[in-house]
Amino acid sequence: MRSLFLVPLVVLATSPALAGDIEPRLKLPAGDRSVALTFDACSGAVDNRILDELIADRVPATLFVTHRWLKRNAATAALLLAHADLFEIENHGENHVPAITDAPTVFGLPTAGSLPAVSQEVLGGAAAVTATFGRAPVWYRDASARYSRDAVELIGNLGYRIAGYSLNADVGASLPAATVSKRIAAAKPGDVIIAHINHPERPAGDGVAEGIRALVAKGTHFERLDAAFPVPTG
Ligand SMILES: [Zn+2]
Repeated sequence: MRSLFLVPLVVLATSPALAGDIEPRLKLPAGDRSVALTFDACSGAVDNRILDELIADRVPATLFVTHRWLKRNAATAALLLAHADLFEIENHGENHVPAITDAPTVFGLPTAGSLPAVSQEVLGGAAAVTATFGRAPVWYRDASARYSRDAVELIGNLGYRIAGYSLNADVGASLPAATVSKRIAAAKPGDVIIAHINHPERPAGDGVAEGIRALVAKGTHFERLDAAFPVPTG
């Protein structure tokens, strides 16, 4: 049993686009040679090219799901629950609303706009994860991976860790498959990879599956966030 509580290494960098907001970066703790795969399920459907690959090669991963996505993908939620040994489920919010209070939109998405709305988004998503999977989430990642500073403080006060990343594999599932595959295959020990598992209609998912196969072939050790950053017990 691991007794050491490792605090997530979150480096806060200012964004050039929204000077007041921050885009947290996350890497695995120093010395951890694993790679963490994290997937966002924002809305829409499930990308079985990715899910099938994870299950076939028994690759553990952390999935960030919204309540909105869970409502539309009940069968997939049941499949994830049936593979609880592989999949850690964390909170991507209730309705995929960015945790930003100081700008009306970010990347074209309307933001929460106020702290009560951020709170509703975080707690609504957490309740949905707990109800579906029987385990309360520990990590939160908002819709834009970008946060206003007051929202970061609020989310911490609500008891959640903010899940950044160090390697953006698919840029919102917008990249060509070959590019995505190359980016994932080039992951370094300690990287936290972000990709999307909710766009089966786009080419990017083929690249995600291919990139994972390349890492598996290299003997990469994959780690979920709950294993990399254990919560203290007792
Ligand atoms: Zn999302």
